Amino acid sequence: MQEIVAFLEQFIDVEHAARRALLVEPDDDRFQQSRLAYETMAAFPGLAASVYRARGAGIPSADEAQRRLLTQGARRLPYWAEAYEHPERGTLYIAYLSSTLSPTGDGVPEDRTALRMTVGATPEGLRILSWEDACLRCDALGTFEGRQCPECTGIGWLLTGGVLHELNGDPVTVYRFEMDDWNA
Ligand SMILES: [Zn+2]
Repeated sequence: MQEIVAFLEQFIDVEHAARRALLVEPDDDRFQQSRLAYETMAAFPGLAASVYRARGAGIPSADEAQRRLLTQGARRLPYWAEAYEHPERGTLYIAYLSSTLSPTGDGVPEDRTALRMTVGATPEGLRILSWEDACLRCDALGTFEGRQCPECTGIGWLLTGGVLHELNGDPVTVYRFEMDDWNA
């Protein structure tokens, strides 16, 4: 599981750097480098759509940038990762992470599983193959008010990027992140 642990650590760092650069990096070229580093972590286009700014658009005031970083740009927490063997793709990982939102405004993400992604090998190395956001209506449960959730049709997750791979049976391995280790 070492490769997925390292990949998720890198992903969290690179995403956080891109979100930060969007708010505080006045140099367009340096911002674009940061954005590109984030975008290339996925095998599908559009990963960095949330960290877009028009060329020459400038950055917010320092106070406003800090406020947005602390409320919307938190470093995600990784919760756990599962390894599966796929007949064509080899080892595929499913990873569960927090959101980047911090409702308390202290830069600590809300403790809620908000992102699920598939990660697998490509000729360029490990890449994100699918991205799913937890359904906010049912909080990823798939049921709402005792019935199938109408928003996610009972799946609990909404695919917003890439493609899903059918994974049969139980995971081969499950890795749980220790939050104390992570924050140390
Ligand atoms: Zn739902």
